[in-house]
Amino acid sequence: MTSKTAQRLLIVSNRLPLRVVKEREGTWRLERGSGGLVTALAPVLRNRGGAWIGWPGVPAEKSSGNLSELMDKAGKDLGYRIVPVALSRREQRLFYEGFSNEVIWPLFHEFPSLAQFKPSYWDAYRSVNRKYAEIIASHSQSDHFIWIHDYQLMLVAQSLRDLGVQSHLAFFLHIPFPPLDVFLKLPWRLEVLRALLQYDLLGVQTARDRRNVIECFRALMPDVTWRGRGRVVVGQVNGRAVRVGDFPIAIDYRSFARRANAKEVLAVRDMIRAKLPDRKIILGVDRLDYTKGIPHRLEAYREALRRHPDLHGRTTLVQVVVPSRTGVPQYRRLRARIERLVGTINGEFTRPGWVPIHYIFRSLSPEELLGYYRAADIALITPLKDGMNLIAKEYCTTNVDNDGVLILSEFAGAASQLQNGAILVNPFHITEVADAIYFACTMPISERKRRMKKLRQVIRKQDIFWWVDSFLRSAFSKHLSEFPQLEEYMPLTSTS
Ligand code: UDP
Repeated sequence: MTSKTAQRLLIVSNRLPLRVVKEREGTWRLERGSGGLVTALAPVLRNRGGAWIGWPGVPAEKSSGNLSELMDKAGKDLGYRIVPVALSRREQRLFYEGFSNEVIWPLFHEFPSLAQFKPSYWDAYRSVNRKYAEIIASHSQSDHFIWIHDYQLMLVAQSLRDLGVQSHLAFFLHIPFPPLDVFLKLPWRLEVLRALLQYDLLGVQTARDRRNVIECFRALMPDVTWRGRGRVVVGQVNGRAVRVGDFPIAIDYRSFARRANAKEVLAVRDMIRAKLPDRKIILGVDRLDYTKGIPHRLEAYREALRRHPDLHGRTTLVQVVVPSRTGVPQYRRLRARIERLVGTINGEFTRPGWVPIHYIFRSLSPEELLGYYRAADIALITPLKDGMNLIAKEYCTTNVDNDGVLILSEFAGAASQLQNGAILVNPFHITEVADAIYFACTMPISERKRRMKKLRQVIRKQDIFWWVDSFLRSAFSKHLSEFPQLEEYMPLTSTS
């Protein structure tokens, strides 16, 4: 049993930072999560004491056997408690696939026509958020700091307050927050805003997201008064105050930079380069998602080949698509559209010894992914809308020779930090992206180095430890005037 003081920070996310693997009926194995967020939060959780609450990834109907025992043991090994939330298949379907992924995901990424505003989805979202709140309440004390993550759990604060929980509550939204005219389409817009108001700190990725949040509050809840300028503002109503700030999420820079030179990574890089000699390798890596703009990107590459015959035989677009939500018809249709387009473009341009697009539909091992990053001369990252886009940051970080080029959508959250070194494009503007591809392919080495150094400097300074640190400091600073300028942070959580 963990002591009281060992629970001072509660992290709550839809999924636990663990992967549950079935060995045989009733017997499970746990694999630890290894993402940047988990890496950065683990030392904080261990030092402050705490717990991570979330769904283990297995429907409640199947989670018998040794699973809870394994969770307890994993918690002891990790140095913080692991608290599973049991969700049935039905709850997963309506709350996660339904409301989270068919309503909030498309709406917040500004694809309102794709949103399925089904009341049954909303009911499930409310009741699952309530379920999370009940579990949090049963594990929290008034002096605990509760940090809730992402769009699946926006209502948790409201349920916690209804249950009488007075703890400090913070929320971070990993996806974009939409502009007012898009948000207004949500039938349950007031309920969502009222719930968000119950947090003490509301973190979003970019200044644009922050402005959108405030604009929605101003329009729909005019009783809330706002003060403050810059990266944090405070809304006040009925004695409650909510701070809204932007905190661009980041990666573990040192880990990526170090692994860029690992033997296995260099072997993959060398193998790719040997198979594609004398080519500019252009790389796209995306989860299968309509927000990522993959068909637009393929069309832009086709346009570049049509406009610039000198690129024929000298460039290869490697497009990696990681399978995602393949059970959803919309995603299956997107896959078919991408594959048709790849076939059409390759059909138009392929000649002996040159296939313009190499298409990979699977997830890569970490070594393969880094090997592709290292082999690529250009990263072509053109989401139509993205909360941040970590691929952009990972590509630059592993580009330790400083000779790569980043072409980046202005609608990726990462664009606000990376605008000084990247070639920014409007992903909907096919000819502009085509010209950017040509520009990148012909950019002199001196300019490539100058740009890449700038990019890597920003990513190094504002890494995931800086992000956790700046969020926590903001949460704990008592007065608005104490809200530190993010640029001035010296990471507390850094391991160096
Ligand atoms: N990634 C992965 N396996 C792959 C390709 C990518 O694990 O085969 C990871 C990649 O390292 C990155 C994440 O997937 O950290 C993608 O994050 P991003 O923010 O770019 O997009 P998201 O998928 O979260 O929308």
